[in-house]
Amino acid sequence: MLAASASLLNVDVVILDVGENAPAKQVVAPRAPHLSHVDGAFTDPAKIRELAAKVDVLTVEIEHVDVAVLEEVEATVPMGVHPSPSTIRTIQDKFVQKEHLRAHGCPVSEFMSIESTVQSIHEAAAKLGLPLMLKSRTLAYDGRGNFVVRDLSQAEEAIAALGNRPLYAEKWVPFVKEIAVVVVRSVSGEVSSYPVVETVHKNNICHLVFAPLRSQDLSVPARARTVAEAAVTTLQGAGVFGVEMFLMKDGSVYLNEIAPRPHNSGHYTIEACETSQYENHLRAILSLPLGSTELKVPSAAMLNLIGASPHMEDITAFASFALTVPGASVHLYGKPDCRKGRKMGHVTVVAGSDAEVRARLRPLLEKLPGGSD
Ligand code: ATP
Ligand code: MG
Ligand code: MG
Repeated sequence: MLAASASLLNVDVVILDVGENAPAKQVVAPRAPHLSHVDGAFTDPAKIRELAAKVDVLTVEIEHVDVAVLEEVEATVPMGVHPSPSTIRTIQDKFVQKEHLRAHGCPVSEFMSIESTVQSIHEAAAKLGLPLMLKSRTLAYDGRGNFVVRDLSQAEEAIAALGNRPLYAEKWVPFVKEIAVVVVRSVSGEVSSYPVVETVHKNNICHLVFAPLRSQDLSVPARARTVAEAAVTTLQGAGVFGVEMFLMKDGSVYLNEIAPRPHNSGHYTIEACETSQYENHLRAILSLPLGSTELKVPSAAMLNLIGASPHMEDITAFASFALTVPGASVHLYGKPDCRKGRKMGHVTVVAGSDAEVRARLRPLLEKLPGGSD
């Protein structure tokens, strides 16, 4: 999606990923030999150096990268690395990220460092209560790295499930809704935010996004945007950031985590906003004027297409059906294999009202591979 946006601005993109047919490489062909894509892992130092030697500005679409190498190449890339490697370093360890946010006065729920021992989990539960959210500090996504301890008898099971990864514990947050805000930050530190959205997760994976958030307390959207913008202001470097938050019954907002990149909760911006999160990411890292983050439709929803089985046909048949729904835009990612739990694409639905969005979404949810509940 970033590559598709770049091609509209005549910006050449060189991609580092495994395989000649990696999804982003299907979108943009190298325009000259020196712009050819790099075949390798984004964790491979030699490959990151090879990419850095080809580009004017380097950015990431995932936080689980080798930060030491990004720090090493930072000075050699003419327009730098965005967001700053120091930001990626802070964010990629969730415990360090939470400490950073707390130190800067951002609202986060209680959390503490723990060892991977039954005793340490018991101590955390004594302090933070049950249920207790255990999280892997590193390499987490789609909830892979989280374990909810509902009863102390699960402590051993939790350690086994989370393996040898460094852990920390979070107090359980009894939220009424999950919400998110995409924030864009320019090289000079100017920030601007997209509308607040509601995110609905299924099995820890983002399932649906509704834009904009509707809440009875009309002060929530402005407060959530203020919290999100303030959090991003504490970080270094340009680009878009996905800020995940919890909305409480009393209308207060807690930060869950920040992604230093375009975010799933902002996919809807492609069809629903004046400037997509991808285009604004490019504008930010290239020091171009930032674009308007306003909605250009009254209401939108985004439905993730998550693999339910190894059968790609289920996804393509669903996509064909989605093409018959007015206001629906289909995005398939070109991933080579379909797997259970893998994000294979998404559908954005726009309409003139929330009711119309929901009416258009209904048949899609009914036909979703793997069911909708
Ligand atoms: P992502 O794919 O968003 O990167 P992740 O693996 O980093 O996910 P988190 O965002 O930390 O995981 O948590 C996944 C989900 O678990 C959250 O969206 C939320 O539904 C729930 N969750 C996380 N922390 C808490 C908490 N402290 N209390 C209650 N629920 C929580
Ligand atoms: Mg995460
Ligand atoms: Mg998350």
